[in-house]
This record gives sequence, C-alpha cells and structure tokens, in this order.
Amino acid sequence: MLIIILLSQSSVYSKVISNEKYDENKVINASKIITELQNDMSKYTEQGSGPFVAAIYDDKGNLVVKVANSVVNENCSNNHAEMNAIKAAQEKLKTYNLAPYNLSLYVTAEPCMMCIGGIMWSGIKAVYYGVPSKTVEKITGFDEGFKPNWFDEFKKRGIIVYGNIEPQIGEKALKQYVEEGKKIYKPTR
Ligand SMILES: [Zn+2]
Repeated sequence: MLIIILLSQSSVYSKVISNEKYDENKVINASKIITELQNDMSKYTEQGSGPFVAAIYDDKGNLVVKVANSVVNENCSNNHAEMNAIKAAQEKLKTYNLAPYNLSLYVTAEPCMMCIGGIMWSGIKAVYYGVPSKTVEKITGFDEGFKPNWFDEFKKRGIIVYGNIEPQIGEKALKQYVEEGKKIYKPTR
C-alpha cells in the first residue's frame, strides 16, 4: 500500500517543472498552499472577483496576503491576482522592494506576461503556480500574452520558479467558471 501511495505521489510531482534543482520539500509545501488557493477559487468568483487567486508567504511559512483577481469588479485591467498580491504585500510592509523579506508568491495559474514583469520588479524571491498558461488559454480563452523564456530569465535574476503544481483542481475550477458563463474579460480588438 505504501509503495502505491509513494508511486502515485511521485507521478503527480513528476509533472512539476522548475528553474532550480528539484526540491521535493518545496513542492510538497507549495502543493498544500496551491490546493487551498484552488479550493478558494469558487468562493471568490461567487463574490464577483477571481477566478485566479494568489498568496504571498514569508520564509517562515506565515501568510502575508491572500487575494483574488479583481479586474471585473474593480474595473482595472492590471488587477490580476499576482499584481493585487504584490500591491497588498508592499502596502502592508510599507516598501516597494520586497527582496529583504524573502517572500514567495503562490498562484493558482501561471503568471501572464504582465505579471511576469510585475513579479520581477517587486523583489519576490520565488514563484509557485498551478495551471500552466497553455491550459488556461485552452479552457477559458483568456490571452496570457507572449512570453520570453521566463524560467531562465528569472533564474538569472535569482528568482526561483516551480510550475504545474497540482493543476487538476485549478483546471476544474476554471472549467466551472466557463460553464457558469462568468466573464472572460478582454480588450476589444
Ligand atoms: Zn497576470
């Protein structure tokens, strides 16, 4: 039985990609947090925000902030979950530079091109995400933007990235968001 459990766990974690030497403890910790955020997705969408949720934790595992995307309910195209989380953390800590705090950002889906920039300027030290952009685009039709090889670019700047962490619950919540006819906000072109 134990062997089966270990095998099934490793098959889940084997899909995880990273820009540093794979650290299972980080993935186990991130899996717990991202699963929690994904389970919160429908709660936020019921309140008019979401469907993406992000949280920032300090290096001792304390939650600093947790917020959802608020593009539609606050009429601001910048208000992705990651951007909202960074803004809330910087306001809370009263600094534009989060680097000395050694913070990690956890988010239900891969950051878009705007959020990659936002994370880079914020001083965040590590990023952990659930559903990859390609899957988000396929399920929802959201445009995630054109992205450089951001894993390597982040590595050059000392920012750790782990992706594809427990994406299943996030995928299900995104499918539900679409099925419920919730807004896929986009600029007109
Ligand atoms: Zn974004």
